[in-house]
Amino acid sequence: MQHHDQKTSSRPSLIKAVILADSLTLSNIQRALTPNDDEWGAVLTGPVWKQLRCVTNSYAVEPLRQSQVYFQATARSWLDTMISIREFGSFVTAIAHSHPGWSAAASTPSGEDIRYLSDLQKKCGSKAIGIIVTRANNDGVAYVRFYSVHVPFSVRVVGEHIEQLEKSAYEYVYRLSIPQNN
Ligand SMILES: [Zn+2]
Repeated sequence: MQHHDQKTSSRPSLIKAVILADSLTLSNIQRALTPNDDEWGAVLTGPVWKQLRCVTNSYAVEPLRQSQVYFQATARSWLDTMISIREFGSFVTAIAHSHPGWSAAASTPSGEDIRYLSDLQKKCGSKAIGIIVTRANNDGVAYVRFYSVHVPFSVRVVGEHIEQLEKSAYEYVYRLSIPQNN
């Protein structure tokens, strides 16, 4: 966990992954993961070229245990999704889930979120990073956090309606302002 506490660490890190996403896709992912008061999860994939790893497609995974403060996918649906992605020669670029709450702080990963991603990155050798989205408030504002435990990364988000709040080698936080249509 030494890597995660970037605020107290002055050790330079070598960026191993550059995540590229656009605000429209992130907005769609945020909406898909907040259909009700429960937490939801998804596996994200997209083109990978050298260090560049795009987030363009989202696959919902079937909940095994789910509540307003918890989401765990069934091993079967998680594996099926990973296998179908790998069969096409593609990679999982991120795993995403929603949290209750509306603030930037609400997108902070739990101890279990960190452990899960740590295992995926260290034991499975995956470069997938974690994404947590919050609910959107009445003004259509939601937060999106990208986090990593063992894979130092940077994020580039293109598009409108998004603003970067924090950045470090292991964490990027964005504010999405989702247009209120109709
Ligand atoms: Zn969580």
